[in-house]
Amino acid sequence: MQFLHLLQLYTPPSATMPEAPKLPQHLSTNDYNLTLKNKKTLQFIEDVTSNPDQVQQRVLSEILTQNATVEYLKRHGLTGQIDRDTFKKLIPVITYDDLLPDITRIANGDQSPILSSRPISEFLTRHDNIFWERKLMPTIEDELERRSLLYSLLMPVMNQFVPGLDKGKGMYFLFIKSESKTPGGLVARPVLTSYYKSPHFKHRPYDPYTNYTSPNESILCPDSYQSMYSQMLCGLCLNEEVLRVGAVFASGFIRAIQFLKKNWTLLCHDIRTGILNSAITDASVREAVMRVLKPDPKLADFIEFECSKKSWQGIITRVWPNTKYIDVIVTGTMSQYIPTLDYYGNGLPLVCTMYASSECYFGVNLNPLCKPSEVSYTLIPTMGYFEFLPVHRENGPIAMPKSLTEKEQQKLMDLADVKMGQEYELVVTTYAGLYRYRVGDVLRVAGFKNKSPQFNFICRKNVALSIDSDKTDEVELHKAVENAVNHLMPFDTTLTEYTSYADTTTIPGHYVIIWELSLNETTPIPPSVFEDCCLTIEESLNSVYRQGRASDKSIGPLEIKIVENGTFDKLMDYAISLGASINQYKTPRCVKFAPIVELLNSRVVSSYFSPKCPKWVPGHKQWGNVN
Ligand code: AMP
Repeated sequence: MQFLHLLQLYTPPSATMPEAPKLPQHLSTNDYNLTLKNKKTLQFIEDVTSNPDQVQQRVLSEILTQNATVEYLKRHGLTGQIDRDTFKKLIPVITYDDLLPDITRIANGDQSPILSSRPISEFLTRHDNIFWERKLMPTIEDELERRSLLYSLLMPVMNQFVPGLDKGKGMYFLFIKSESKTPGGLVARPVLTSYYKSPHFKHRPYDPYTNYTSPNESILCPDSYQSMYSQMLCGLCLNEEVLRVGAVFASGFIRAIQFLKKNWTLLCHDIRTGILNSAITDASVREAVMRVLKPDPKLADFIEFECSKKSWQGIITRVWPNTKYIDVIVTGTMSQYIPTLDYYGNGLPLVCTMYASSECYFGVNLNPLCKPSEVSYTLIPTMGYFEFLPVHRENGPIAMPKSLTEKEQQKLMDLADVKMGQEYELVVTTYAGLYRYRVGDVLRVAGFKNKSPQFNFICRKNVALSIDSDKTDEVELHKAVENAVNHLMPFDTTLTEYTSYADTTTIPGHYVIIWELSLNETTPIPPSVFEDCCLTIEESLNSVYRQGRASDKSIGPLEIKIVENGTFDKLMDYAISLGASINQYKTPRCVKFAPIVELLNSRVVSSYFSPKCPKWVPGHKQWGNVN
């Protein structure tokens, strides 16, 4: 029943509507249809979260029935069984490396049913920050439907908290990236590019909730400058109608505001004259923008007046005065953008609506107006089959074994069995042919919606920095950096971006933290303050690190390098030139790729070292991170 319901959500409301019922006096037909559709969607969420285990069993048996004859499952001894116990007993928990030989065969053109009985329609590319390597995730046509389903849940949820969003537009900065082909001819592109180019997005039926200021042509324009320019221009032209603004990740939205900062004179010229800048050469973009752009000297004056003010505080609420919230992901390490967004948005709510990846779309935030630090995502049990590997880190940073022993594999828990407060690594089985695949994200159970758990996003599993036996993960580094930044507060200076790398060219090696700052030029910061920052970071790191520094002397003093403004934009441009997607780009919190380290180092303006060793008390040996 649930699955029928799931599909019905996709039929335009008019087609699913029963005989026209009597309208309540105060509602128009459209309003009534929308109310009904929202109600249905919320009921769907109620249903699937009330019986997560039942739904999960059904999802698993559907996946295994659909793929009963695939080579991968047969190879592991599964010959048509669809029950959970046999599946768990026979199928190993794997990472991308384990799957690589099969992926390579598919990429090279092997069309036999290796992972999925349905044809692999394309590969979704995913860049893992640390190594900048590109992973290819196979997908099938049906997955687009499932992704659309998750998107369709967002606005009915939001409508409960901010009604009336159907009466205006969303200004979202969305981008595609050029795609490549595998030797076997399959398209390889990021998941969002795949979605925006699909009929599900391009030919979406009219829906007041997907009424964006950006024309499809601008979103689909492969030239990122023309795409950004035209999206910003349309957003400005329709400024009064905009009720919400956003991008996928916070970094993308801030980039759009920076673009406005650099280009507002050009944009205002276009609005004043009604003539589109000749740098926009894409004919379809020009045509789409010209449907929106009309000479409007009054609006141009207004935008010019706001943008030429010295302070850009509250620029979003000033230029788009009806904005109710900023829709961007600020969970995980994206949280460091919160102060910048608060500044531009004058404290507008920051809303993180969903949690998704190339492998699978996972869940939604059912309490979207909560504080960013309290965001939790409810996994939607119909999206895939989810398992959870307990993570323990009382003894130090998260360090997850690369491959699991049989005993560890037995520790995986089901969605309905996870425990409040416990952290887990997410493992998925998808309709597209991933079986017990470790996504690499660590989640913590923060509460429950009916019987379904809700998760805080903790981090992407990795060891960001390591010199010796020390292992520092992103979360630990992030906390340490946050502690250090407190020293900058008296100087009215904020940290705009940071990354790090382990410098092993010195003996002993040492951690290097790269900082880009937004400085108040009038109050210079004495070097001793940065040295204190270095020491604070060291003091905040785990005891294996501090032992290495203070006792073993296997790690040298931590270094902070300050880089010129704009360096992290350059880093992003570089990543994009290597094939990363603007939408999915996340500043890497650790870099290892030599050209990137070189790029960062070429823009260093000053550097500081920790003046002494951090405190370390012997006697508390750390076993938490021994693989
Ligand atoms: P990609 O496959 O390139 O789209 O990246 C997906 C990854 O982005 C996930 O596995 C997470 O690590 C991260 N991510 C996605 N959604 C969120 C979110 N709401 N909060 C924090 N991180 C997220």
